[in-house]
Amino acid sequence: MTHIAVIGTGYVGLVAGACLAGWGHHVTCIDRNKARVNGLRAGKMPIYEPGLLQLVEQGMESRRLKFTSEIAPAVSTSDVVFLAVGTPPTPIDGEADLTDLFDCVREVAKTLKSGAVIVTKSTVPVGTGDILESLIRKERQQLEIDVASNPEFLREGSAVKDFTRPDRIVIGTESENARTLLTAVYADPISRGHHFMATRRRNAELIKYASNALLAAKITFINEMADLCEAVDADVSDVATGVGLDSRIGPQFLHAGPGYGGSCFPKDTVALVRTAQEYGVTLRLVEATIAANNARKRHISMKVRHVLHGRVEGKKIAVLGLTFKADTDDVRESPALSLIEVLQRSGAAINGYDPEGITNAKAVLHDVAFFDDPYDCAKSCDAVVFMTDWNVLKNLDLARLASLMRAPVMIDLQQIYPPEEAAKQGFVVETIGRTGAEPHPVGSFQPNFLLSDINPLTRLPVLPKTAATPETYDDKVAAAGT
Ligand code: NAD
Repeated sequence: MTHIAVIGTGYVGLVAGACLAGWGHHVTCIDRNKARVNGLRAGKMPIYEPGLLQLVEQGMESRRLKFTSEIAPAVSTSDVVFLAVGTPPTPIDGEADLTDLFDCVREVAKTLKSGAVIVTKSTVPVGTGDILESLIRKERQQLEIDVASNPEFLREGSAVKDFTRPDRIVIGTESENARTLLTAVYADPISRGHHFMATRRRNAELIKYASNALLAAKITFINEMADLCEAVDADVSDVATGVGLDSRIGPQFLHAGPGYGGSCFPKDTVALVRTAQEYGVTLRLVEATIAANNARKRHISMKVRHVLHGRVEGKKIAVLGLTFKADTDDVRESPALSLIEVLQRSGAAINGYDPEGITNAKAVLHDVAFFDDPYDCAKSCDAVVFMTDWNVLKNLDLARLASLMRAPVMIDLQQIYPPEEAAKQGFVVETIGRTGAEPHPVGSFQPNFLLSDINPLTRLPVLPKTAATPETYDDKVAAAGT
């Protein structure tokens, strides 16, 4: 069995460490956050992830899983050191911030034994492995070590399952020693027939970004189809089902919603574009995905505004689901946060509910009243917005919910409830990808532009100007003067 150190005990490091110990390896998880380490030693999970607590407890009982905040002792006896620290976007241009990773590597290099392998699990731009190698050489010139890439594809909410039963394990290295060690580390899933792909380090680094960019594009695509469905009186869930039945496309990531969020897709798509720009390459599709998703996250508040007849000022709105998706407590880049911010700026008061994400949401949201129960959250509200499709939110007693509200208005941005069903329980409904409880009469659809109205440069429709919606500054001045 291999002696392994994992640096960073977040969603990736902690899950990886616990699963590796579950496969029989001797694992020490290291984090500079002492409170987190002390909590873990006392059996307190710093994140919510189904199945994780049990796995950590088992690992600690077997004495194969340990936690510490000191890098040196653990690293000096390890054959493999996984780096799983955060690589957040820099505030200025969204490039991956590798400060923590570099700090870690300098520290690791001081005590690493010869023949060991450093493995980057953090998501890092192509070429980072080369930089790590040179940092280590600077620290200890004679040290014989390898730096490999092993990107992580787990999803929050199903991280333990994803790690133990992965679609694929990708390792990137040009070294035979590293390949042998990593094959031993992953012997368990390899023996169960999971794909193990060994490739060059640069390929592995890029596979991670390319995967996330493609998934983000797929979500964005179906979200745009949802907008079109609303305009042409079609139903996006049926369209998605029909599209997803094509085996070349597949059904996953075709659920229209309020836009993607989380700690990975937003930052990784931007970081990929930045890398490409550095090399003089333009990734138009990825750029368009980012722009469309950002616009969607802002625009989605219009649905709330629309169903409340254009005014949210003075209204009390319940937001159900604050995390970026179900089964996680992670609120990073959650569409719920941007929605709440926009509604608050427009003068709405916000009640918030989430089964697991309230602690994290409290750290970033202000002036929100938080509730442990969705019915309490919706009490006396003028509208309820479904932002995350938690199971608990899929089984609400709608009649009860409606009866508690000041006005039973539902904005279902996760397509949880068929609008007709919600309408029967008394709700006025606004949803995604189809018309609401009062569908347009069949045949009423009129396209609001002709193909001849398409701007040949932007490929966007040139919308007709109306007196009610002045378009240019001059128009606005003229309109103001009348
Ligand atoms: P996270 O923010 O949850 O955890 C990072 C941890 O690293 C924190 O506990 C922090 O205290 C610790 N840390 C930072 N610098 C350190 C240092 N110098 N020494 C010791 N500990 C240090 O991050 P995460 O979500 O687990 O993501 C980690 C990496 O994995 C990122 O690059 C991310 O893009 C990638 N990734 C994340 C996911 C995901 O779903 N979260 C999935 C795949 C890949």
